Amino acid sequence: MKIQIDHKDFELMIEHEQVKKRLRLIGIQLNVAYERRVPVFVGILNGCFMFMADLMKQVHISSEVCFVKMTSYSGVNRSEQVDELMGLNIDLKGRDVIIVEDIIDSGNTLKKVINSVKKSEPSSLAVCTLLLKPDALQHDFDEIAYVGFEIENQFVVGYGLDYNGLGRNLKDIYKAI
Ligand code: 5GP
Ligand code: MG
Ligand code: MG
Repeated sequence: MKIQIDHKDFELMIEHEQVKKRLRLIGIQLNVAYERRVPVFVGILNGCFMFMADLMKQVHISSEVCFVKMTSYSGVNRSEQVDELMGLNIDLKGRDVIIVEDIIDSGNTLKKVINSVKKSEPSSLAVCTLLLKPDALQHDFDEIAYVGFEIENQFVVGYGLDYNGLGRNLKDIYKAI
């Protein structure tokens, strides 16, 4: 099925039913891995909102949920620019933290988020991402433990992901053509 978003053509790539099926399995893995712990799920906005909502319905262990945004403060010169997590209202020190991302492309964003979270000294840190583009990845991560789908190096939209601000509300995931 083809659709147009802001005059650009996209075609169906992953149906919502497939996503739901995958999330049930990831949910089982999380429930086993974090049994008897109380992890903190940290969603990176905006893209994660739909994924996170569906994912958390599959998590049946006691857990906390919060959302953050990345923000960058520029100092007098560019080298002073520090990225921080905005909106983190839970102390992550000594906690089991699971970062929830919509998509990992180059991995630059994730790198910054991980560095920022590590400053809080969590007792463990894992990453759960809906989508991963292995061919685009520019960093090595030990933390990426849960991946919904590995996809090719192409632009996708829907299920929280946008194209020029549009398409986040789409239930299925589409790729640019
Ligand atoms: P990074 O290159 O730092 O891993 O990706 C940064 C951000 O770019 C992601 O969190 C996501 O918001 C956006 N992004 C990367 N690839 C795609 C894509 O294929 N589609 C959309 N809509 N956003 C993407
Ligand atoms: Mg993201
Ligand atoms: Mg975007």
